[in-house]
Amino acid sequence: MTHHVVIVGGGTGGTVLANDLADRLASELASGEVRVTLVNDDPDHVYKPVWLYVPFGQRESVDGRRPLADLVADSVTLRIDRVTDVDTDARRLRTREGAPIEYDSLVLATGSRLAPGEIPGLREGGHDYYSESGAESLREALLSFTGGHLVLSVIGTPHMCPAAPLEFVFMADDWFRKRGLREDVDITYTYPIQRVHGNPHIAEWARPRMDDRDIHVETFFNPESVDPEDRRIATMEGTDIEYDLLVGIPPHRGADIVAEAGLGDSGWVDVDEHTLEAENADGVYAIGDTADTGVPNAGSVAHYQAGVVGQRLASEIRGRPPTATYDGKTLCFIETGMDEASFVEFDYDHPPSPVPPSQKLHWAKLAYNESYWLTARGLL
Ligand SMILES: Cc1cc2nc3c(=O)[nH]c(=O)nc-3n(C[C@H](O)[C@H](O)[C@H](O)COP(=O)(O)OP(=O)(O)OC[C@H]3O[C@@H](n4cnc5c(N)ncnc54)[C@H](O)[C@@H]3O)c2cc1C
Repeated sequence: MTHHVVIVGGGTGGTVLANDLADRLASELASGEVRVTLVNDDPDHVYKPVWLYVPFGQRESVDGRRPLADLVADSVTLRIDRVTDVDTDARRLRTREGAPIEYDSLVLATGSRLAPGEIPGLREGGHDYYSESGAESLREALLSFTGGHLVLSVIGTPHMCPAAPLEFVFMADDWFRKRGLREDVDITYTYPIQRVHGNPHIAEWARPRMDDRDIHVETFFNPESVDPEDRRIATMEGTDIEYDLLVGIPPHRGADIVAEAGLGDSGWVDVDEHTLEAENADGVYAIGDTADTGVPNAGSVAHYQAGVVGQRLASEIRGRPPTATYDGKTLCFIETGMDEASFVEFDYDHPPSPVPPSQKLHWAKLAYNESYWLTARGLL
């Protein structure tokens, strides 16, 4: 009997996993003992880290898109369709366009969804670089911004790439300085909790750097609404600030199908943080942003988790006990200006300790972004 592995989501986690399985289970796939199907609702694979550079005119958003069919091994069945329902008792998925899909093992890699509509006025009054269209329109806004109050507001956690909002304000500071406009631009960074980043070690590292560069900080700042006409953000705490240019990191949610299937609240799957198995259903794993492990929502995390789940699935299919576990490994380059960056690596047992910024690390980040396409294909 054929064992059918279905992966929902062809972003970083799902694509790396599909190619990992194609390699690891090559003989079983060739003999027909195993079938791997990857379902994605977009024919393209999207690499989001490119969007950080779009507002500063350094990349085009199209640089972050490639046809998924060019990245996924031929032995994987690729289906471009949207999964609309997960029935974990019947082990069946319904999709928008095609026939239902029966699975033996399911991996959810559906990523994060932006929910700007939860904050009245945010769509009309703010910009973002957490979406392709947002990054494009922010570029126009930033280019014509020659003075005034730029506010970057992180609206809720978790959100993708916890470092990216810090990177944006560090880059903006440098960008305006290099263009001789910094004295005319006030920069404010707001964060929902009592520090500037969810991780206390990174917050402690970043805060003095923000002070040194005259980046104002507002903590315990939870926007409730945005008034696009008055250009004012009102918060749950009762404070409000005026802005001339608002860059909002919108609230994030996971896929609707996750909550509807009873796998976890807000679209994040409740998983064992080491095995990545869903707590509320058998035969289901989650990786990447979808897996509620408490580690950052980052591509590096999705990549490492894909490797773990690939090993576990191969063991299960071969009738052996799965032993691979995820140790919380996270890796992240942090841009600290337009041409320097820091780097952190940490896991469940070892906290992050950002290294001194250098130009070399900035180039390493850019080089990684280029080589990403090999990573997605399972070649790195
Ligand atoms: C501006 C920005 C900068 C970033 N920088 C970095 C960085 O420097 N380093 C880093 O490690 N991470 C970075 N990230 C975060 C990283 O991009 C994400 O954490 C990563 O993409 C998560 O991978 P994933 O596989 O979980 O989800 P995704 O890559 O988002 O993929 C999810 C896929 O599932 C599909 N999907 C969703 N629902 C369905 C459905 N119902 N049916 C079918 N398909 C569905 C989506 O279309 C998508 O293709 C950044 C993110 C942003 C926005």
